[in-house]
Amino acid sequence: MCLFHRSHARAASDPSNGPMTATASPTSPGSAPGAAPKISFVSLGCPKALVDSERILTHLRAEGYELARRHDGADVVIVNTCGFLDSAKAESLAAIGEAMAENGRVIVTGCMGAQPEEIREKYPDLLAVTGPQAYESVVAAVHEAVPPAHDPFLDLVPPQGIKLTPRHYAYLKISEGCSNRCSFCIIPSLRGNLVSRPAADVLREAEKLVKAGVKELLVVSQDTSAYGVDIRYAESPWRDRQVRAKFYDLTKELGELGAWVRLHYVYPYPHVDEVIPLMAEGKVLPYLDMPLQHASPSVLKRMRRPGNQERQLDRIRSWRATCPDLAIRSTFIVGFPGETEAEFEELLAWLQEAKLDRVGCFEYEPVAGATANALGDPVPPAVKAERKRRFMEAQNGIALRLQRAKVGRRLAMIVDAVEGGVAKGRSKADAPEIDGTVHAAFRRPVRVGDIVTVKIDRAEAYDLYGTVA
Ligand code: SF4
Repeated sequence: MCLFHRSHARAASDPSNGPMTATASPTSPGSAPGAAPKISFVSLGCPKALVDSERILTHLRAEGYELARRHDGADVVIVNTCGFLDSAKAESLAAIGEAMAENGRVIVTGCMGAQPEEIREKYPDLLAVTGPQAYESVVAAVHEAVPPAHDPFLDLVPPQGIKLTPRHYAYLKISEGCSNRCSFCIIPSLRGNLVSRPAADVLREAEKLVKAGVKELLVVSQDTSAYGVDIRYAESPWRDRQVRAKFYDLTKELGELGAWVRLHYVYPYPHVDEVIPLMAEGKVLPYLDMPLQHASPSVLKRMRRPGNQERQLDRIRSWRATCPDLAIRSTFIVGFPGETEAEFEELLAWLQEAKLDRVGCFEYEPVAGATANALGDPVPPAVKAERKRRFMEAQNGIALRLQRAKVGRRLAMIVDAVEGGVAKGRSKADAPEIDGTVHAAFRRPVRVGDIVTVKIDRAEAYDLYGTVA
């Protein structure tokens, strides 16, 4: 998982930040004995890995496999691993260990599967180990372990496929891999270079999701703004027209589908400017998840980051002039090898100027295989921790001021849960899992997935409180 992509607003206050974990829920709990073979599934890692899990499950479900609630009741367990950081690897190995202990018939896939030796060394009895995006190999391994029960009359799969997210939002993966070579990242060696999906494929999937009740589409990839570069922006037929595989064109078409569209992992390339008017017009959400990682030009150079980093502030100012409600979230790394106090202070000063809405901060972790490890003296752990604390303290002040400016406003909220007379949801400025929550009292009935208007009465650095209008 690219933790550096998956930004966490609560990085300072919530030590549980880390890879997302999803366990598949069965669609028919407690199915009759002797029925179709059962799969237990563990999905670790980022939203991109979650989309891979959904594809595998959709395929298997279409073949008649059932989903088991527990490892010990399943015919086979699949663990989709995350191998980006050492901490994510440790979590993946622990999940494999649990599956081996509780079941013993285990197939491993995902990012960590790109380094099978490490897994095999610890768990030599695994049924199979396959790499990321190797759907067919996973399915083949399942067939070998437990053949599908053939039933030509089975029609178990909803048209939008199996989703691990709640029904009202869904991740939409537009490409695989990455052609950048950021020095701290091994994703390209795990997932390969950028491979974009044709625009019409993405749009067809998005349309199906919206027809099935999805209200919010979360666009993900490793580098969303580079979409289509590898296929030279090829056109594909969609409805009565040809659509180019280009960031702006795809975003514009997605904005026509009638759902909230949220853009993740966008780099500050010049052409990103083009989508800001779509946000100002209300076609897509005024939200940009833009992992910037640092602001000191010398550190960014050592990081080999894409995009024109030096003019970021001008860019952000002009975006906000076009779209005043734009919420920008980002992630930063502190303690990059050789980072000096002066470079860190450049970052702090930049943060005060940029006034980003949501920010996550990670201490540099020397991932095995990352070229950055050799770029400078490691920053001592205590210094890294102290810089993270100072960084998040500065950001908390900024976030609180921005949040307080929302008091008295009426904001749209998508409802994620209704508990004890309070609806919990997210404003347009809040992505699921990583941003804040809006807590709203209500008098008329509200349901999960509704988009309601909330009058904001009170603000904290992350969360807002109010009443459904
Ligand atoms: S953009 Fe950089 S950090 Fe992100 S996946 Fe590509 S190489 Fe890794």
